[in-house]
Amino acid sequence: MLSLALPASLLHALASLLAGVLVAIAPPPAATDLPSVDPAKIRAHIEEFASDEMNGRYFRSPEGKRAAQWLADKLAEAGAVPLEGRDSMLVPVARVPDAAPNVVGWLPPKGPKPSGEYILVTAHFDHLPPAQTGEDRIYNGADDNASGVAGMIAVANALRNDALDVGVVFVGFTGEESGLIGSRAFLEEETLPPARIRGLFNMDMISRQPDGAIRLDGGPKGKILVDLLVRLAPRVPIEMKVDTHPDWLDRSDQGPFLRIGIPSVLFSCEDHEDYHQVTDHADKVDEHLAARTATLVALAVRTYAREMAPRFDLSPVLGADGAQARTIRVGRTLPNAPWWQPATRRSQDRGLDAAILAALAKETGWTFEEKQVAPGEQAAALANGEVDIVVNGASASLAGTAGLARSLAAVEPAYLDRSGPALLVAKDSPISAESDLSTLRIAVRAGSAPALHLATREPAVKAIVVTEPDGAIATMISKGELDAFAGDALSLELRAARDPAYRVVRLGAVPTAILVRADDAPLRDALGKSLGRALESAEWRAAVDKHAARAPAPASAPASAP
Ligand SMILES: [Zn+2]
Repeated sequence: MLSLALPASLLHALASLLAGVLVAIAPPPAATDLPSVDPAKIRAHIEEFASDEMNGRYFRSPEGKRAAQWLADKLAEAGAVPLEGRDSMLVPVARVPDAAPNVVGWLPPKGPKPSGEYILVTAHFDHLPPAQTGEDRIYNGADDNASGVAGMIAVANALRNDALDVGVVFVGFTGEESGLIGSRAFLEEETLPPARIRGLFNMDMISRQPDGAIRLDGGPKGKILVDLLVRLAPRVPIEMKVDTHPDWLDRSDQGPFLRIGIPSVLFSCEDHEDYHQVTDHADKVDEHLAARTATLVALAVRTYAREMAPRFDLSPVLGADGAQARTIRVGRTLPNAPWWQPATRRSQDRGLDAAILAALAKETGWTFEEKQVAPGEQAAALANGEVDIVVNGASASLAGTAGLARSLAAVEPAYLDRSGPALLVAKDSPISAESDLSTLRIAVRAGSAPALHLATREPAVKAIVVTEPDGAIATMISKGELDAFAGDALSLELRAARDPAYRVVRLGAVPTAILVRADDAPLRDALGKSLGRALESAEWRAAVDKHAARAPAPASAPASAP
């Protein structure tokens, strides 16, 4: 951390100290009141953060690191603390060692039933390095994005006394302007388990809109939040224009979160004449627009936290203080798994694994941790003890599972029989069975079960390894750029059911499995027992029936098993 040896910063420090005292003696807001946001404080923060002293806050500069520390201090004044297990809000980015850190603070849950889940409120704090020439060379970035940072601090302050069951996490992302460095690292380095993040509100430029209407974008995956915000906006009141810039979704820090299905939204303003110019100065911002936006975000976080049901019912686990403490590490595959869906499709992903976990927790008092494991690495992760269970382990079952017990393979036919390798093809495609595969161009994901299947069974197939989202691949198929997309039958069938332009060809039976180590008798026994019980319960039956009713029957009969 760099210290400032300037009188002005001493004054700032003193002002910050006083502000902290004033906040501390303010009465807690009543639960039904509108969250309290002070426009004057937002203006003061923007002026300070966009001052020439910060020199544009480029993420690889000393001032970028100074900006991170400034933000950590301000979040602390607003009542936030470092995440559990960390002693600082500064979270370094491992893959860019000289980068300013992400700034991550949170308001831990104070409600009666902590759910173990998180809502994120975010804003990037970095901007641009100084210009090479010109009289004014400093990109102050008052609107972009001192405004979002000031808004985020205001949201923390407004929610500091709320008793919510979720943790509210505030993230100042580093390196946004240089390629979403901080938000990508946040997910890749698992600052928080992605499966526990229930929503994200990102503010990037919230203080300059001549028509006074903030722009809100969320796309289909952010719909649950967009709907909520539209419902709440009249209470602030604030005018919004909704989903007018779908192309913005990949252009700020909500992008990486949306890509893996976390409901996320962006608050922003239209690009203006000072956008990414040295003239983006604090005297041009509208602190009232920023304050109304922050008020809406705070209100939405509060409302969302109270209305949403937990994704995984981990309350028995979180509340347990059982004598035989054991932590079970559950390996999950991040992309392309049936349960990995936005909260809007929750009924469908509260499937096998959630039921097993809840039942196991009740039976044993064990605690659970989630760990993301790449599909091709599941067997190895189990074998070397990195995880204790792998769910949806179809690829692990193919990749050689000596020493692993496939305890639960095919125990739930209505669910599991729909899993397995399959192809998504255009409706008029000549492919109707596995035997039609010859020299086709087929998109596969590295390490996925269908990729392995094709590699071992159909060496003539030209498999193109892709990283695009499924929607983009479906478009490539409809344009004829690809012949098929290999994926899990269940998710492909859901896709084909939504869009009659496609159909699904099954590639033979590969059982989905839940894997544990063969020598882990206590876990295997407990798993079998609690699953047996769960399967007999009326709730489980109802969940399976509902799921079976929703998923259509396979488009073609499964090829005969090898
Ligand atoms: Zn920005």
